[in-house]
Amino acid sequence: MRVIRMRIDILTLFPQFFDSIFATSILQRAIANGQVVLNTVDIRDFAYDKHRVVDDYPYGGGAGMVMKPEPIARAITAVKQSQGKVRVIYMSPQGQVFNQGKALELAAFDQLVILCGHYEGVDERVIQLYVDEEISIGDFVLTGGELPAAVLIDAVVRLLPGVLGSAESAAQDSFSDGLLEYPQYTRPPEFEGIPVPEVLLSGHHGRIATWRRQESLRRTWERRPDLLVRASLSTADQAFLKQLQGRTDSNSCCQFDDRV
Ligand code: SAM
Repeated sequence: MRVIRMRIDILTLFPQFFDSIFATSILQRAIANGQVVLNTVDIRDFAYDKHRVVDDYPYGGGAGMVMKPEPIARAITAVKQSQGKVRVIYMSPQGQVFNQGKALELAAFDQLVILCGHYEGVDERVIQLYVDEEISIGDFVLTGGELPAAVLIDAVVRLLPGVLGSAESAAQDSFSDGLLEYPQYTRPPEFEGIPVPEVLLSGHHGRIATWRRQESLRRTWERRPDLLVRASLSTADQAFLKQLQGRTDSNSCCQFDDRV
């Protein structure tokens, strides 16, 4: 018997948006293997008036339309399961910014109900009464919550046990251990004059592991020094970072102590 690990219900005005996303790559395989059930729900099906109206003018005037609360409330009530750990999420530029830690946290739920807004957003009262959490995918505004929902779903589903081919691939991805991942290479051994680092061809697992860890530290130091503040660093890691510090100019050296 196949065990369904997670159910995700996506409440949207554009269910067809998700067709190709669910039919591709890891998500398609996770669905086929019964590791996740992805269910799109047309909010319009819960608008019971003759014209199936889902939006209305904003009180107080102003541009755009606002999604009405009643169809959304009915849709959430219809899909929300009474058992297990359930999280109702509204994709919103005003929410907490999504990251790998949040993806990991959400991967522990039995059901996610994801509300995609459109127009000027949704009536505030439905957020107050029915939503557990608002999540943003960054400080910019998109037309609808469908792209953000797809981003969140992809990040969460690949963390479900057994979804990725190798358990290691998620564990070594950027952010999983608080750092950016080391650079990757494949064949050919030389491309347009640039050789693959010699150590990767050595077959020496210990040296390869050390090189990867150090490149991971170097990348994070160069690109996302803010991550080093919270990363768990061994004595060897700290010594390597001090070495990097020694190679930088006197201006950037002073920021280093704040980073580690
Ligand atoms: N008027 C809203 C505001 O200024 O906060 C923006 C509404 S936006 C045009 C329409 C919908 O897109 C939102 O309800 C939300 O579901 C989604 N959305 C837009 N940007 C987003 C982001 N950065 N993260 C998550 N969802 C977003």
